Amino acid sequence: MNQAEIDSMARQFQQQGHEVVHDPTQAEQFIVNTCTVTHEASKTSRKLIRELHRANPHAQTTVTGCYAQVAPDDVMKLPGVVRVVDNTGKDNIVQTITGVTVKDFDHEPIARDTTIPGRTRAFVKVQDGCDNACTFCITTVARGAGRSRTIDEVVAEIRQLHQMGYQETVLTGVHLGSYGRDLGQNLKQLVQTILQQTEIPRLRLSSLEPWDLTEDFFELWQNPRLCPHLHLPLQSGCDTTLKRMRRNTTQDEFTALVATARAHIPNLLITTDVIAGFPGETDEEFAISCAFIEQMAFSGMHIFRYSKRAGTPAARMKGQVPEAIKKQRSKVLHRMAAHMQQRAANLFKGQALSVLWEHVTGATQDGFINVGYTDNYLRVWALHPRVLTNHITQATLGEYDPDKNQIQAYPIIE
Ligand code: SF4
Repeated sequence: MNQAEIDSMARQFQQQGHEVVHDPTQAEQFIVNTCTVTHEASKTSRKLIRELHRANPHAQTTVTGCYAQVAPDDVMKLPGVVRVVDNTGKDNIVQTITGVTVKDFDHEPIARDTTIPGRTRAFVKVQDGCDNACTFCITTVARGAGRSRTIDEVVAEIRQLHQMGYQETVLTGVHLGSYGRDLGQNLKQLVQTILQQTEIPRLRLSSLEPWDLTEDFFELWQNPRLCPHLHLPLQSGCDTTLKRMRRNTTQDEFTALVATARAHIPNLLITTDVIAGFPGETDEEFAISCAFIEQMAFSGMHIFRYSKRAGTPAARMKGQVPEAIKKQRSKVLHRMAAHMQQRAANLFKGQALSVLWEHVTGATQDGFINVGYTDNYLRVWALHPRVLTNHITQATLGEYDPDKNQIQAYPIIE
C-alpha cells in the first residue's frame, strides 16, 4: 500500500519535470512514507529519516504516513524534517512540496525516463482506511474510516500503466475486501471491470481479510489474467486468540473459505500473516494455532512478533507475553514457513507456469540471471542468453534453493 502511494508520488514529481534519484546525496527533497504497524516499524521509520539526513544534510525531508499521523510532534523533532503531512494530506503531497498543481496524469515524461528500473509490476491503491476494529491494530486510528476510489479512476490508471509498459498491476488497500462499500459497489465489480476494460496482462490482489470473500467472488478466476494467489491474513489459528483479536473469522470459517477457493482456482497458492505472542496466548493456544496453520498448507507466511501499540485495546490486555517467549514462538513459525515454501516449490516441480520476469541480477558465461514471479507468486530465477525483463513466458520449474527462497526455472520460448 505504501509502495503504491510512493509510486504515484514519483510519477507526479516526474510529470512536473523533476527527477527521481536513487542516491540520497543527489536529492533535494526526501519523502518518507512511514509505517507504524509495529513498534519496530516506527523505529525503522525514525532510523531511515536520520540516515537520510546524515547522507545529505542539505536536503529537506517531508514525512507522511501512519507514524507521522500518530506521533507528529516526535517526527518534527527528527533531523532534517521540515514538514509533517498527515494521511489526509498525503494524496496532495507533491503539490504541497512543489506548489504546482498536479495535472491529469500524463505518462509521457515517465515513458522517456530511463532511471526507473524494471517497469514490470505496479501497485495501485484503490481504497484507504478500515471500518474494522481488530484489537491489535493502530491502522484504523492512523488511516481513518474506509473510502474508495471510483472504478473509472482505477481503470484509467491501469490503462495508463499498461501503456507505459507495466505487465502487472497489484490492487492494494488497507482493507481491500471492503472496496466500494462507501460507493455502493464492491471489489468483484471493480475486478470484473478492470478485466473487461483494460488489457493489462496480469492483475493481482494484495491482502484480503478472510471474512470479506463470498463464494461467487471466486468466479472471477475464470479469467486467467487474474493471478491465482491469495494473501489471507489469519493472525492466529486458534479460535480463542482470534476472538481476543476481534477478528471476524474462526477455524471453521477459514477452513471452508480455503476449501472453496482451492476448488475454484487452479494452481492457487495462499500466503498468510501470523502474530506471535498476542496478549494471553498460552502454550496451548499457540500449539492449536500451529496445528491449524500446518493444516491450511500455506505457501508462505509473514510472521510478526506482537508489539504493543499505544491506543489499541490489546495494549491494555492482561497476560502480555514475555519477549523471550514471543521470540521462541516466532522461531517456531519461521521454521514452519521455511517448510511451507519448500512444500509449495515441490508441488510445482516439473510443471510449466507463467512467469513475469522482473529484473536481472547478474550474468555468467551461460547467460543472464533473470529473476521473476510465477502467477501464483513463486519466486523463480533462470539463466538465459537474453534479458527477459518485462516479458511473460511459460517456464518449467526445477530445484528449489531454500537459502534464497527461489526456484530455478527453464523458460519456454518459441
Ligand atoms: S482489518 Fe483489522 S488488521 Fe486490517 S486494517 Fe482493519 S482493523 Fe487493521
